[in-house]
Amino acid sequence: MAYQLPPNERARLDKLHSLAVLTSGSDPILDTIVEIGCIAAKMPIGLITLLDAEWQWFKANRGLSKNRIPREHAFCNYTILNDRPLIVPDAEKDSRFSDNPFVRGKEHIRFYAGVPIEVEPGIRIGCLCVVDREPRKLGRDAIQILRRLADCAAERLRQRGNARLLEFFSAERRDQLKASLKMIDAAKVALAQNAFTLFYQPKFELRTRTRVGFEALLRWRQADGSVLAPAAFAEALDDPEFSCRIGSYVLGTAISQAKTWEQAGFEFGHIAINVSSSQFADTEGKMAFADEVLAATKSASLDPSRLHIEVTEGVLLSGRENQVARQLAQLRATGFKVAFDDFGTGFASLVHLKELPYDQIKVDGSFVRAMVNSEEDMAIVKAIVGLAQNLGKEVVAEGIETEAELSALIEMGCGYGQGYLFGRPAAASDVTKVEGNAT
Ligand code: C2E
Ligand code: MG
Ligand code: MG
Repeated sequence: MAYQLPPNERARLDKLHSLAVLTSGSDPILDTIVEIGCIAAKMPIGLITLLDAEWQWFKANRGLSKNRIPREHAFCNYTILNDRPLIVPDAEKDSRFSDNPFVRGKEHIRFYAGVPIEVEPGIRIGCLCVVDREPRKLGRDAIQILRRLADCAAERLRQRGNARLLEFFSAERRDQLKASLKMIDAAKVALAQNAFTLFYQPKFELRTRTRVGFEALLRWRQADGSVLAPAAFAEALDDPEFSCRIGSYVLGTAISQAKTWEQAGFEFGHIAINVSSSQFADTEGKMAFADEVLAATKSASLDPSRLHIEVTEGVLLSGRENQVARQLAQLRATGFKVAFDDFGTGFASLVHLKELPYDQIKVDGSFVRAMVNSEEDMAIVKAIVGLAQNLGKEVVAEGIETEAELSALIEMGCGYGQGYLFGRPAAASDVTKVEGNAT
């Protein structure tokens, strides 16, 4: 049986599904609403129906044995087309329903009165209806009561939907959320108390094993003397406010460390800092990241070649890519090198490789560590190295732990690298202790 769909059918179905009431079982309040409807209208059958794409579900049901029927057989298809009740005094005499299997078949429905259940203006997800197997009439008072009951049903379904939403955020999720908010607060306090610090991991030219620079990696010193790596406070680094503040701290600290090393005559090459996407936001009252870098290096009289900026694909393609690209281009034009960090772990397309402003590709450590035992990882690393070379970019391999990995990387022409084989991230004082230099 062909029936007309409401013009907002897509939005109507989306709303119905978002309430998640189709599968949530029976509800004594909706059952009571149907019962009152049957008593008020003096009808043997009463239903609260929900019209899904293919089925009409009976959310509350008094007098019928089924819990759903094919949507095409539903009287309610007509009722949800507007906000008025639909009264069918005798279905056998109504051309819309006379062929309906519920009229012609063993249920032998003759009378139908339905009121749409509107959960949002214009969004009618189903009906409250009363039905009889005899032709009937319905008084104005009874229709009024059905309308009021349909409003109650709408309210109840909305509540059930909201309750499901709250359940979604329940117990475990709420605890997780609370724990991460607590951690972000603790990180803010720790920053104010100077409990963050930078560790420095050396970077090498692979063929000659010459050190070319350091990567600055953030650490959070704990009261017991242990230090936490970023994985333990990732949520804080994702928090826009904290990540901007810590970003300024990292920039300032790396610059002042570079100056200290310069003044001590320690040949450190460059320091690479990691930058998160919030730092690039064009927020009113906040200096653009590129301007902050320019101002800070200028006031410290640090040459731009001393500082590298590392951004992951998440930053480059963060939804503020225009701001990011503009600021990185500005920094490169001034002489700072930009590295595309963790390359190969995300979804950057080859178009991005050619369009984004960067000088270096850093091959993610996970591929490097796996490649000696996995042909696939070896093929990926080779491909990245080849791609970078052909694009005229430098390649830095991360996470080199063994001589075998180093040899393979040298053989495929990878220029630079870092990893435990060369040195673990360490406090500045430990870095220079090894060299026998004062900081
Ligand atoms: P990343 O920038 O890719 O840093 C390399 C990570 O690999 C570091 O982890 C480093 O300790 C680790 N690593 C280095 N060599 C080896 C090795 O041979 N084997 C193994 N298994 N791991 C190695 P870390 O320090 O835990 O940092 C993790 C990530 O946190 C960094 O990845 C970076 O994305 C982020 N991060 C670090 N410092 C900062 C920061 O100051 N600001 C921001 N926004 N993110 C940071
Ligand atoms: Mg990095
Ligand atoms: Mg990396």
